[in-house]
Amino acid sequence: MAKYTEAKCRMCRREGCKLFLKGDRCFSEKCAYDRRPYAPGQHGRTRKKVSEYAVQLREKQKARRAYGILERQFHGYFEKAEMQKGVTGTNLLVILERRLDNVVYRLGFANSRNQARQLVRHGVFTLNGRKVNIPSLQVKVGDSIEVPEKNRKIPVLAGAQEVIARRGCPAWLEANGAAFKGTVKALPQRDDIQFPVNEQLIVELYSK
Ligand code: SF4
Repeated sequence: MAKYTEAKCRMCRREGCKLFLKGDRCFSEKCAYDRRPYAPGQHGRTRKKVSEYAVQLREKQKARRAYGILERQFHGYFEKAEMQKGVTGTNLLVILERRLDNVVYRLGFANSRNQARQLVRHGVFTLNGRKVNIPSLQVKVGDSIEVPEKNRKIPVLAGAQEVIARRGCPAWLEANGAAFKGTVKALPQRDDIQFPVNEQLIVELYSK
């Protein structure tokens, strides 16, 4: 399966914001973006005139990289969002948020979406009592994500309560770190997605 091979911190520097791809390191003084908040490469610090297309492209790349999705699947999500009722950009973000790997990350069971994806792939969680291993699965209202007894000793999962206390849990989810369980209370709304992205620019890019 295809995967990103580019250095993660480089992506944050390229997109000009913290994408939180490296778990605890992102909150420490080792964060590369905090230390060098400019684009990577020899000309990273030179000011360039940026075209409208470049601005739209960067916004799309930012969202895609934050959620760790490859271009083809991301475009597929856009087409799905376009077919749904409502605002396409918001629909797109809601689809991204509803991915199982993102939900696992938001519930504090993983330090990054990448780690969440790996845990899901390894079949560490159950969804409504059944083992799952598909990170892209879309969660629904009422779904329950749980860590079965035999997997609770995995260190990153044992620290879930601590992570939730530090990071907070979005209003549309209910996390119970002590019980190794999370519930989807509602579908995410635009205001629940704090990530600094202008989704309208992504819509404009794909609508050309
Ligand atoms: Fe981005 Fe995290 Fe690296 Fe900082 S430490 S640059 S937030 S991936």
